[in-house]
Amino acid sequence: EAPITVRSLSEGMGRPANSILQVLFKAGRMATMNDSLTEEEALEIALELGVELEIKSGRDLEAELEELLEIDEDEAGLALRPPVVTILGHVDHGKTTMVDRLRSGNTAAGEAGGITQHIAAYQVMHNGKAVTFVDTPGHAAFGEMRARGANVTDLVILVVAADDGVMPQTEEAISHAKAAEVPMIVALNKIDLPGVDEQKTLQGLAQQNVLPAEWGGDVEVVRTSGETGQGLDELLETIQLTAELNEYKANPDRDAVGTCLEAFRNEGRGPVSWFIVQNGTLKVGDVVLCGSAYGKVRAMYDDRDNPIKKAGPSMPVKVSGLDEVPAAGAHFFVLKSLEDARELAEQRKFAGRSEELASMNQRPQTFDEIMA
Ligand code: GDP
Ligand code: MG
Repeated sequence: EAPITVRSLSEGMGRPANSILQVLFKAGRMATMNDSLTEEEALEIALELGVELEIKSGRDLEAELEELLEIDEDEAGLALRPPVVTILGHVDHGKTTMVDRLRSGNTAAGEAGGITQHIAAYQVMHNGKAVTFVDTPGHAAFGEMRARGANVTDLVILVVAADDGVMPQTEEAISHAKAAEVPMIVALNKIDLPGVDEQKTLQGLAQQNVLPAEWGGDVEVVRTSGETGQGLDELLETIQLTAELNEYKANPDRDAVGTCLEAFRNEGRGPVSWFIVQNGTLKVGDVVLCGSAYGKVRAMYDDRDNPIKKAGPSMPVKVSGLDEVPAAGAHFFVLKSLEDARELAEQRKFAGRSEELASMNQRPQTFDEIMA
């Protein structure tokens, strides 16, 4: 493979070499005709000059990634994994109170006040078995994640306040759960309130084709109160029963793949990503690619901020060590080579910028703007 030079790039693009030298100069590099350029530089120059450029690399790394996702699992290597549960429902119907309650039942007294702000997912133990809860900000976020191909949810808990009944966002949550084709369990919540009309709420659900089991339908309804804790054990039991029926499995003995639920920049740790491992086991030291972010896992923390060395299927983890904050909903992969991860990340960054410029439908003003 011949190196790209200013001259060959100029010929290849059909643009004067001077314009290429100018771009390089603006970026702070003094170059001459015979200087060689990296692929990234060549792509950046093409971008700046508004030329579409395709560099043929020997390997199609993206295609190799697809194979990682689709890997044919040997039944013998599969083991049961905890169910991943998403809680949806109308605003103020008690989702946050419920998840707080579920967690605090498992937390040592006094720890509650120290809970981190950015929790996106966590595990609750019940009967010695884990259940993973994903705390999306709402069904819109849930739908967006799915639209990006991130199907992390095994089942949906639909929280409906018994005093309020089925509301617009309840209906939207129902259609999201149906689109995701995952089982749904209804938590008929705030059951502690006096004088609630349970039948009216059940009717509202039936009108949305969510037919309660007690009416001969296929949807379990559990009466709950996040406030008093009533019914939460039964809810966890119903979740675990559903999980047993569906036998959610993964192979813990392979390199991890999964999804980024949320990511943010942390003062001390740099970019921190909330990952949920969907297959395999993620370990400290693994090379990870997530969207256009990449790096070696420097440290991992569980949902209570305890440092951990590895995370198996269905486990939510906070990961530090990536070079930037990945997008929510992006898949992550463990790769063997840091070089491959870097190359893919750069390719993706470049593709992302090109798309952005194309969608703005205008020429960039300066090199700095493109690179910003
Ligand atoms: P979210 O918007 O669905 O997350 O709802 P929140 O958990 O923030 O709850 C909204 C309001 O309902 C708060 O004032 C809670 O204290 C109250 N609430 C939540 N769950 C219950 C419950 O089970 N019983 C009663 N009586 N109030 C509740
Ligand atoms: Mg809330």
